[in-house]
Amino acid sequence: MVQIYSVTEGRLIDQEPIEKSESTWKAILDPITFEVARRGGTEPPFTGRYHNCHLNGIYLCACCETDLFYSEDKFDSGTGWPSFTKAVSENNIHIKVDRSAGMIRDEVLCALCGAHLGHVFNDGPPPAGRRFCMNSASLRLRSK
Ligand SMILES: [Zn+2]
Repeated sequence: MVQIYSVTEGRLIDQEPIEKSESTWKAILDPITFEVARRGGTEPPFTGRYHNCHLNGIYLCACCETDLFYSEDKFDSGTGWPSFTKAVSENNIHIKVDRSAGMIRDEVLCALCGAHLGHVFNDGPPPAGRRFCMNSASLRLRSK
């Protein structure tokens, strides 16, 4: 079991981790979401649906609808990817060292289903100084 923070309920809830085979994910996700979220891809900058989105709401995992980011924590990083200063809860994400592409980066995954969301860097705005650089394809906005 993993404890996931539910924005609707306002508390942590025990949930069974979501595990599906690659072929099942491929059948239920659109191609870009499958490529990014399940295979660790990166969408080209300035192409996703959320980098320039200013609607209010909660960004959910595109694979399992776990609450991930508040629109209030979104900022314009100029990178072409939706960027946030923090997650809804540290419980809802999993951070893992990623040594691919000749770099050492902190990869951000959905804590419930393991979807690849993006990376987190330490060059964000104060006070926390974190920049969660996410892929639109791994997110789904539930508008308020
Ligand atoms: Zn998920």
